[in-house]
Amino acid sequence: MLARNAVLASRRCFATSKTPDLEIDNLVVGAGVVGLAIGEKLTATRPSETTIVIDKNKRIGEETSSRNSEVIHAGIYYPKDSLKTALCIRGKGMLYQLLSEKSMPYRKVGKWVVAQSEEQHAYLETMHQKAANLGVETYFLSKDQAAKEEPNIRAQSVLVSPSTGIIDSHAFMDYLQQRITENGGDVGLHTMIRSICPSEGGGYLVELATPPHTDSPTTVLCRRIFNSGGLHADKVSNLLMPNRYKLNYARGHYYAYSSPCDIRHLIYPCPEKHLAGLGTHLTLDMAGRIKFGPDVQWVDDPYDYTVPDDADKKQQFVEAISTFLPSIRRDKLQPDYAGIR
Ligand SMILES: Cc1cc2nc3c(=O)[nH]c(=O)nc-3n(C[C@H](O)[C@H](O)[C@H](O)COP(=O)(O)OP(=O)(O)OC[C@H]3O[C@@H](n4cnc5c(N)ncnc54)[C@H](O)[C@@H]3O)c2cc1C
Repeated sequence: MLARNAVLASRRCFATSKTPDLEIDNLVVGAGVVGLAIGEKLTATRPSETTIVIDKNKRIGEETSSRNSEVIHAGIYYPKDSLKTALCIRGKGMLYQLLSEKSMPYRKVGKWVVAQSEEQHAYLETMHQKAANLGVETYFLSKDQAAKEEPNIRAQSVLVSPSTGIIDSHAFMDYLQQRITENGGDVGLHTMIRSICPSEGGGYLVELATPPHTDSPTTVLCRRIFNSGGLHADKVSNLLMPNRYKLNYARGHYYAYSSPCDIRHLIYPCPEKHLAGLGTHLTLDMAGRIKFGPDVQWVDDPYDYTVPDDADKKQQFVEAISTFLPSIRRDKLQPDYAGIR
């Protein structure tokens, strides 16, 4: 599972005094989209270094990276001076360019953020101004224009974000994994990091094992560790700095929609206060299927992906969706999947 060309090391960790089985330059913990992208960049730009991306699961991208809306965001929601905004805008441009160059599946379908009141329209005005300051294109549609373009959608006004799109996240992650191995790196699956300690000669001594049998680990000396452990990034970090981080988990549910409905854009309600989520929205996948979600429900267990199939949950969805899609049919909503933020 581990690096093909890794060099046996002789250095010792002062904390465990164990001799490492392998010595590498870069260990990337987590093969979701973030870890794979880091691994791809490291192997492309530092070909003389040894890089391994590991994941505790048997396949890449089995957690949050395959449990989301697959939307390429425009970068207009978050505080204007934040790194998130800057990276979202820059990343969007880089991603579209890459997808187009490599003929990977994506569609720049555009997004509508819909206002149902004067208050919400005022919020969209602020968003429009912020987008303009950030150099991101958005424009307004009147009620009549909106009704012409999307007759099924109800809105007082619509802010259009034409640069928002959708991606096939699995195809993108497969591409990154392939690039890592072509560049000479490794992706070690079913491999979990279970301890980290600083090595007195520099770098870190880590123990890797195949879950759930973590009793005969491989000891690896690595110069750098990249923590891209997603929902478990706190636990990975706490291996080195105990009790420093504790994540809180917000689960979002998706419902699939099986009623034929001609809608061509992603439809988002005006954002919720405090922005725990972007509001239960309508998204399309690459095949044109409609789904709704995610809502926000705080949970304790990052592995609990249950999607409730009860009347209350459906009612909450119907209420949220009917604000912009009055023709929504409750009997055509089916529990689909969940993701955790
Ligand atoms: C409901 C929802 C909707 C979203 N919608 C969008 C959207 O439309 N557009 C968008 O851009 N973003 C969206 N996101 C966010 C996006 O999905 C995440 O930012 C992204 O997937 C995070 O990727 P990641 O690689 O950090 O995490 P993950 O995909 O969770 O990967 C982390 C990996 O680390 C591994 N790991 C953890 N601990 C260890 C360990 N000790 N040893 C080995 N491996 C370990 C895990 O097994 C996992 O595979 C959404 C998120 C949610 C929850």
